[in-house]
Amino acid sequence: MIDIQEIRKDFPILSREVYGRPLVYLDNGATTQKPRCVIDAMTDEYLNVNANVHRGVHYLSQQATELHEAARETVRRFVNARSTAEIIFTRGTTESINLVASSFGQAFLHDGDEVILTQMEHHSNIVPWQLLQARTRIIIKVCPITDEGRLDLDALEALFSPRTRLLSCTFVSNVLGTVNPVADIIRVAHAHEVPVLLDAAQAAPHLPIDVQALDCDFLAFSGHKVYGPTGVGVLYGKETLLEQMPPYMGGGEMIGKVSFEHTTFNSLPYKFEAGTPDYVATTGLARALDYVSAIGFTAVMEHEKALTSYARERLSEIPGMRFFGPSDDSVVSFLVGEIHHLDLGTLLDRLGIAVRTGHHCAEPLMHRLGIEGTVRASFALYNTREEVDALVSAIDRVRQMF
Ligand code: PMP
Repeated sequence: MIDIQEIRKDFPILSREVYGRPLVYLDNGATTQKPRCVIDAMTDEYLNVNANVHRGVHYLSQQATELHEAARETVRRFVNARSTAEIIFTRGTTESINLVASSFGQAFLHDGDEVILTQMEHHSNIVPWQLLQARTRIIIKVCPITDEGRLDLDALEALFSPRTRLLSCTFVSNVLGTVNPVADIIRVAHAHEVPVLLDAAQAAPHLPIDVQALDCDFLAFSGHKVYGPTGVGVLYGKETLLEQMPPYMGGGEMIGKVSFEHTTFNSLPYKFEAGTPDYVATTGLARALDYVSAIGFTAVMEHEKALTSYARERLSEIPGMRFFGPSDDSVVSFLVGEIHHLDLGTLLDRLGIAVRTGHHCAEPLMHRLGIEGTVRASFALYNTREEVDALVSAIDRVRQMF
């Protein structure tokens, strides 16, 4: 059991008020708040260490480099990768997926080859493949979802063909809260000799990730959704695949030797890290991963699952409540009667409650559900049952206004 009140003290922002009311922050799917240790680690680096990494002979540069590379080791441990060569720092999930679409695409995808996505993908796992499509005539196939909001695994199996080159799917849906059976999906894909990219943006904050046990080929997540800073994310890739892929961007750090006639590239992971990395953010990310790991995912999952079930139970008391998706994880998406999601979100905000409304960057999923958008409450390890109660009574108040 975790002591939520103690944990809340680690997050300074949670004690602020909005519109004279205590903040009830239920927009963690969009971004999480940061514990003081993350903010302090980053402030300390700017105050005492700051220097560009990798290039300097001087003391500060070496110290900054040590912090940056130690952060890579922390990420490796967090996802249980075999080697730090497989951990590439990016700006976030979006950049990680774009990197794979561009670079894996260049190496392995030819006209007529197929990529499988699913109907529950975030735009950042749809549009990069469409951009690739503008250069190479790949075919995008889409696995449908059931009415319950789960992947239709029979339909998925039928999508594989000898031209399938990659399956890219979300681990956890940011709209439906579905936790996909990714280990089974990977097994099926590998039986067809198809590698798998997992979008773990909504998984990394909530459940333990073991890339070796899963045997996924790529995995992407964002620092800011797992209590870390914005501007940094991770791409895990199997070394054998990364070795065969060309660089994504060119510039400093990613090279071996440069001349106007011929340039060679650096070894992994630096081949994919052109330019000055956000080395302060990587320190913050490492601190955030250490923070959540110290609490432990067993406790985090127990707390968040209990809170999510409690939210479903309490919200279902509201007349006209319609849920979307199974809410396996920390996400509850809903609509209430005929109230427009934007109106509901705006009025909840006035009562101090931060939720997200709209299509959640998943317009194809909205089309499938036959709606324009939902209201989404998404939980983190610091949320409480009292906050769920506050959400429920605020919705009741809004309902009475209509
Ligand atoms: N995938 C999923 C499932 C997400 O929820 C998000 C963020 N909402 C992203 C990708 C994109 O993450 P980022 O904007 O941090 O790159």
